[in-house]
Amino acid sequence: MVEPIANQIEQGTLVYDISTNKVGEYRGKAGPYAMLRPLGGGREWEAAPEAVRPATPQERLIASVKAANSRSWVGNSVPYDITTPPSPIPDCQACTDLAVLRYEARARNDGTAETDANVLLRRHQHRDHEIRHRRVFRFVPYAIVQDPSAEPEYEARCVSGDDTDCDATSGPYGNPADVEEWQRKHTQETRHTRYRRSFADYAELEPQPQN
Ligand SMILES: [Zn+2]
Ligand SMILES: [Zn+2]
Repeated sequence: MVEPIANQIEQGTLVYDISTNKVGEYRGKAGPYAMLRPLGGGREWEAAPEAVRPATPQERLIASVKAANSRSWVGNSVPYDITTPPSPIPDCQACTDLAVLRYEARARNDGTAETDANVLLRRHQHRDHEIRHRRVFRFVPYAIVQDPSAEPEYEARCVSGDDTDCDATSGPYGNPADVEEWQRKHTQETRHTRYRRSFADYAELEPQPQN
């Protein structure tokens, strides 16, 4: 005697009910029936145990997409960035599944299913990876270039002194050797030996051409 497959299914498993062509979560048995609950909640239904089998990965994904889309997201004002498709996080099964779903949708030119997969992927990443997909400006690469028209400045300030710093400064020089000379002279005159040195220059950010 062959046992109906529903008898071997664990509670919580997503199953396919061939009599209604729906995916549901197996809740257990009620008399002769298998009790199934729609994904995302709702009224349970009774299925003949013979009509129930574990859902395929594809069936599970499609049902998840439908459930997510039918759920009310009113009040959830997370500003998803809808301009950039989300990237799956490596080693995350949910990300991978959704990326596969998106890939398959794209391959069969199903724009609606592709958008659904992106929406699900963003929500999953928002919830499970705490990734905020915000609207972003296009990334522009810059090179940082020293301004050749403005000489770099070297300067030293004497910070010797018991209670307060001496505070004598060399003033800005274009050459570090001039600053050192000033330091030697100041030390000879005052026996002060401790200095704070600084360097300043001007730099500009130049946008780089994008390929
Ligand atoms: Zn993930
Ligand atoms: Zn000094």
